[in-house]
Amino acid sequence: MLPFPNFEQVIDTKILSAGYRYYAYQHIIEITLKDIGEWVAKVKGSQIYDVEIKLGNGYVEYFKCDCADGSLGEVCKHVVAVLYHIRESQMQTREDFAAFNTEVQTMLKDIPKEDMEAFMVSFASQNKNFREKLMAEFGE
Ligand SMILES: [Zn+2]
Repeated sequence: MLPFPNFEQVIDTKILSAGYRYYAYQHIIEITLKDIGEWVAKVKGSQIYDVEIKLGNGYVEYFKCDCADGSLGEVCKHVVAVLYHIRESQMQTREDFAAFNTEVQTMLKDIPKEDMEAFMVSFASQNKNFREKLMAEFGE
């Protein structure tokens, strides 16, 4: 089994560096926390691959990718890219996620509506990914 967060220990260095490049050059086009410790992602390679990862008890309990290597049950660069993303996002555990939720909710309560609107408009105008998500969620 792969340890997490220190997955580098057991993964081939070539796969690690390829996966890191995918992470760093933003090949992860979508990533969703499906449940505590469970992620689904879309990673862009020669085509778009679906990656699933489940973390628990200091290990990667489950991983899946539909590329050629992933279909053989091997750790591929797409899985590695997602592991780097998860580790960098620092929300690996139920406690991390709960703490983040509480912090954001507390913060949001105190922000005047106009300030939030101004921030959303300004941020959305600079960030295509956020703009698309915002329109998909709330647009008509
Ligand atoms: Zn793969």
